[in-house]
Amino acid sequence: MNDKLHEECGVFGVFCTDSKKDAVPLVYYGLFSLQHRGQESAGIAALQNPDERKTEKPIECRKGVGLVGEVFSSDVLSQFTGFAAVGHVRYSTAGSKSPENVQPFVSHFKLGSVAVAHNGALINADVVRELLEDAGVGFSSSSDSEVIINLIAKNYKKGLEKALTDTIKFIKGSYALAVLTGDALVGARDPNGIRPLCMGKFDGGWILASESCAIDAVGGTFVRDIEPGEVVIIRKDDVLSFSFSEKTRKAVCAFEYVYFARPDSVIDSVDVYGSRIRAGEILSRESPVSADLVIGVPDSGVSAAIGFGRAAGIPFGLGIVKSKYVGRTFIAPSQIMREKAVSVKHNIIESEVLNKRIVIIDDSIVRGTTSRRLVSILKAAGAKEVHIRICSPPVRFPCYFGIDTPHRRDLISNVNGVNELCASLGADSLAFISVQGLLQSIDPSSSGGNPAYCLGCFTGEYPIPAAGEDLGK
Ligand code: AMP
Repeated sequence: MNDKLHEECGVFGVFCTDSKKDAVPLVYYGLFSLQHRGQESAGIAALQNPDERKTEKPIECRKGVGLVGEVFSSDVLSQFTGFAAVGHVRYSTAGSKSPENVQPFVSHFKLGSVAVAHNGALINADVVRELLEDAGVGFSSSSDSEVIINLIAKNYKKGLEKALTDTIKFIKGSYALAVLTGDALVGARDPNGIRPLCMGKFDGGWILASESCAIDAVGGTFVRDIEPGEVVIIRKDDVLSFSFSEKTRKAVCAFEYVYFARPDSVIDSVDVYGSRIRAGEILSRESPVSADLVIGVPDSGVSAAIGFGRAAGIPFGLGIVKSKYVGRTFIAPSQIMREKAVSVKHNIIESEVLNKRIVIIDDSIVRGTTSRRLVSILKAAGAKEVHIRICSPPVRFPCYFGIDTPHRRDLISNVNGVNELCASLGADSLAFISVQGLLQSIDPSSSGGNPAYCLGCFTGEYPIPAAGEDLGK
């Protein structure tokens, strides 16, 4: 399994138009509210005020393995400033956790310095890396993102705009980029817009963020989404925007709405909470069930459970309590560890479920670990029946564009049909939302033809054809 391909990340950038102001605290808060996008490492690169530069290097970087609050102690923050800064949170699977892969990447070269924070995954990183290595460029990590910074550095003599367009034309895959140069903050989104990126402003400057919830967190105002194939260059006196790609199909990752994004974010004009409520409503119409109580698997199943309950006229209750201090189940490396982690993570409120017919809503089934465990503890707590309803279609194919999914053989819906899976989970019934239903939950006006979303993990049809078995999954 090529672990390099699986990265889930969040990026955040701030540019203060007054170079005496400090962008670092804002980026720190922004990263806190993107923590759900990556819990393994965090970093900030900051552009020093030219009058206060302590070192030769215009861009300083602090980064490390751990949560934002662990990497940035008050000591670190008190000695680290800059009027523009980019930050990154990252989650990767076992094998690529090494500290060299922690972002942002910073490169200092003759003509200047650049820092890059990248969310996404490149599908031609190996080829580009080889070409760069042949041209004498050295690499210090195994990350795709270092390919981007080295390409920018190599092309920098042509000027920033040209260096960016040349880099971006070369790389293929998904990317939401926040780039810091000697005088600019740059945002760029891949031609299909697979990963989200938006722009905000505050009194005194500009913000780039993976999700709008991070703009809210720092008291900023949402301005707009960066368009697929768009580059935005923010400098002291102007904001320049240009499109670097010919028209391509917009293919925003549907899994952002299903699971990954925070419900208080709005991505490409769709509010994530609303889409999850609608998914629950649609699911209750597609696969109705007689039950006494609807519960949602916290946190990502809760909004859809509310929608399901409303549409079905079944009361919504809590039923399951989740420890706030346990990381995501996927972080545990082995199946045995994962199963243990699930029981630490969720507990049942017995009085709520005793002798009731329960509908339990989750956003997705990947390996089946969570659902199997929850059915068993719900039944142990006295639930009379447990019916599972899932707000995404079966995940049958891996993601090559930045969401962590296991190898195809470990995707339980790839191996089992719905009836078989229902029996193996020990549930009384199981149903998934249809692909059409999911599309309608995100975009109620969708007619289903040529959707503006990437549904690759459900359908195996990816917006960029190069993905496939040959990538080693
Ligand atoms: P599983 O237990 O393997 O079936 O995974 C499904 C559960 O993991 C659901 O409760 C999801 O909310 C959550 N989940 C889905 N996709 C991911 C992901 N890429 N990373 C971490 N958790 C996920």
